Amino acid sequence: MTFDLARVRAEFPLLAREVNGQPLAYLDSAASAQKPQAVIDAESRFYEHGYAAVHRGIHTLSAEATTEMENVRIQAAHFINAASAEEIVFVKGTTEAINLVANSWGGSQLQPGDNIIITEMEHHANIVPWQMVAQRTGAEVRFIPLTDDGELDLAQLPALIDSRTRLLAVTHVSNVLGTENPVKALVAQAKAAGVVTLIDGAQAVMHHAVDVQDLDCDFYVFSGHKLYGPTGIGILYGRKALLDNMPPWEGGGAMISTVSLTEGTTYAAAPWRFEAGSPNTGAIVGLGAAIQWISELGLDVIAEREQQLMRYALDKLAAVPDMVIYGPQQRAGVIAFNLGKHHAFDVG
Ligand code: PMP
Repeated sequence: MTFDLARVRAEFPLLAREVNGQPLAYLDSAASAQKPQAVIDAESRFYEHGYAAVHRGIHTLSAEATTEMENVRIQAAHFINAASAEEIVFVKGTTEAINLVANSWGGSQLQPGDNIIITEMEHHANIVPWQMVAQRTGAEVRFIPLTDDGELDLAQLPALIDSRTRLLAVTHVSNVLGTENPVKALVAQAKAAGVVTLIDGAQAVMHHAVDVQDLDCDFYVFSGHKLYGPTGIGILYGRKALLDNMPPWEGGGAMISTVSLTEGTTYAAAPWRFEAGSPNTGAIVGLGAAIQWISELGLDVIAEREQQLMRYALDKLAAVPDMVIYGPQQRAGVIAFNLGKHHAFDVG
């Protein structure tokens, strides 16, 4: 399959707009991607034809909406090759997924003197939740430093991991430098030391296929809105054996098995135990459409097109006077640069 630019562009209604009298060129997909018509239509169709509360009604519409939501769980599991749909938790996005793991797993497992290893290239969403839970539990956060080329300085890792290391949390692809980290090798190294692993896939799942069983990670997280899906929805993948032993994070409806006012309330099994309250069902349906859309377009076709665009952009940028480009040669679709003494706002 080849990339048909005109056809793909036409699938995004917003790209038909003009800005400042020019056809729209949208270069901010790493922050949030525009939505193809298939995603917009799926969400509209759900509200027009199939909407109802899920998991608690016994009428036809509720049963249909529940099935539709659970089908997206199965679809998301296939998308990242999880062993089962019960390893897929619906969350608001990457940020909520990491906060869930930090609070539930971290809050119940971390002891004073334990440590968590992250890296200097993490998004704030993969730094601050760990700092917060470390402060609460008396654990320490350690950082893998970067080389001048914007890659992880993995030579430093053996000195950081010790018998009190409990978790390694690392981004698959950097949102600043576009660096693709060797996460499979990192997971293997962590596992050999008995360390639990979390991979932040927010910038990875739209660039190439992800196989969580092959990576062998314990947690993998991503957001729908960067994957051409709706905002307010994301996925936490968790290895079943870990999810089964994690306490709930938020309490409410849909996450309980039985509720008693006087005796102990009991909780639902994972993943539902982690989905308190009414879920964002419209966005879940939209996420399903986004996964289908990107799978039909073909991640290999997208990857090839991206590399062409990246070479073009790097060549053009390198020819601009006073341009300094950061990060490794081989990268996913992000370019960080400085243009002389000009402020980022002026360049933007
Ligand atoms: N991690 C990375 C690598 C990201 O790029 C982002 C979004 N910029 C996040 C986490 C946070 O994602 P969200 O805001 O969708 O929760």
